[in-house]
Amino acid sequence: LSDRLTSVFTNLRSKGRLSEADINATAREIRVALLEADVALPVVKEFISRIKERARGAEVSQALNPAQQVVKIVNDELIAILGGETRRIRFAKTAPTVIMLAGLQGAGKTTLAGKLARWLKEEGHTPLLVACDLQRPNAVQQLQVMGERAGVAVYAPEPGNGVGDPVRVAQSSIAEAKRAQHDVVIIDTAGRLGVDTEMMQQAVDIRRATDPEEVLFVVDAMVGQDAVNTAQAFMDGVGFDGVVLTKLDGDARGGAALSVREITGKPIMFASTGEKLEDFDLFHPDRMAGRILDMGDILTLIEQAQRTFDEEQTAKMAGKLASGEDFTLEDFLDQMMMIRKMGPIGNLLGMLPGMGQMRQQVNQIDDKDLDRVAAIIRSMTPAERAEPKMINGSRRARIARGSGVTVGEVSSLVTRFFQAQKMMRAMAGGMGIPGMPGTRR
Ligand code: GDP
Ligand code: MG
Repeated sequence: LSDRLTSVFTNLRSKGRLSEADINATAREIRVALLEADVALPVVKEFISRIKERARGAEVSQALNPAQQVVKIVNDELIAILGGETRRIRFAKTAPTVIMLAGLQGAGKTTLAGKLARWLKEEGHTPLLVACDLQRPNAVQQLQVMGERAGVAVYAPEPGNGVGDPVRVAQSSIAEAKRAQHDVVIIDTAGRLGVDTEMMQQAVDIRRATDPEEVLFVVDAMVGQDAVNTAQAFMDGVGFDGVVLTKLDGDARGGAALSVREITGKPIMFASTGEKLEDFDLFHPDRMAGRILDMGDILTLIEQAQRTFDEEQTAKMAGKLASGEDFTLEDFLDQMMMIRKMGPIGNLLGMLPGMGQMRQQVNQIDDKDLDRVAAIIRSMTPAERAEPKMINGSRRARIARGSGVTVGEVSSLVTRFFQAQKMMRAMAGGMGIPGMPGTRR
């Protein structure tokens, strides 16, 4: 895939929209990549159709070829979906905060309980681990080992007391937490190898009895396609507020992340990456997007191409102004496009003298307007672009007709341009443009 997409590295200078053929060709590749990453088919379909929609509306980038541009859209969209609502644990107004873990057997709940306890302890909390998996013989002991490693207390039914009732254990653990001043209670629950009604009912009962702030659905990233069904079953059966992906140290491409996020709409909060307690981190959407797409090389190329393009533009502008050449309407358009493309980083420029004014000019214009501005400028003759002073009433009317806007809009653009030109002349004559490399200071 990489080879095919990178082989065409032409610098596309024409403007307009991405062609349907470009979009379809790249969408096919993306589809394969997602399926290979084990994203569930319905999720892939939905995702691809959304990507196509976005790609159709996107202005052709001057820095990227069409394939790269679609990949960039996919990557941005993936990050947006995966990270849409990343959030931290919610803590209860009155302690203890109850966190309940749910998921299939072997998903990594008990291990996660230990990791979470350790992590919370490092953040200054005093968690209590609660053993509510009373089904498997060694489950309680396994949690006790975790607690010991994390240096955190474990609440469990007395051994030899016969088989305890997990709901009652969960309930009494809250009283214990209050008594011993634990501000967080982490409830480890039982799981089955497959979804079953008895297990689901037990989880529901524990949830009712403890009213947790967070029910976290723990899912093994290796399960791939099946993640969708499991997530849906737990969503319907118990309900949950957040997702933890485990076993990300394995070779799974992580399609489960996208599937679960899309199907349940719940944020992925943590990632588990090994058997040790330290193998645990907040979930990073950008890393996961890269892993799912598996196009690290292409994404790097895309970044480079864009950066080079921006640098080229900046240097061109700076060189031009420094050599005493005048700031033209073409430059005006280029600069608006460039600043807009920088996105939030462009906002930083607002803090620098000079660029702040330019930024303001750009901020008055939203994306749709930018298209209109571009259309207006393109409807001008080269002579008019070079010498905007000549744009009188009848020329304005012609330009307005040519670009499908009102004469007023043409006039307002010309006025804004003269303001920008004045500003750029002042800067070129004086101190150079702060923040623009290569200009005089
Ligand atoms: P539970 O049945 O949901 O409580 O799952 P466990 O916590 O007992 O974990 C099942 C197995 O997976 C154990 O052998 C764990 O050591 C292992 N495990 C849990 N989380 C991870 C992880 O992130 N990476 C790896 N490699 N193994 C894990
Ligand atoms: Mg367990």
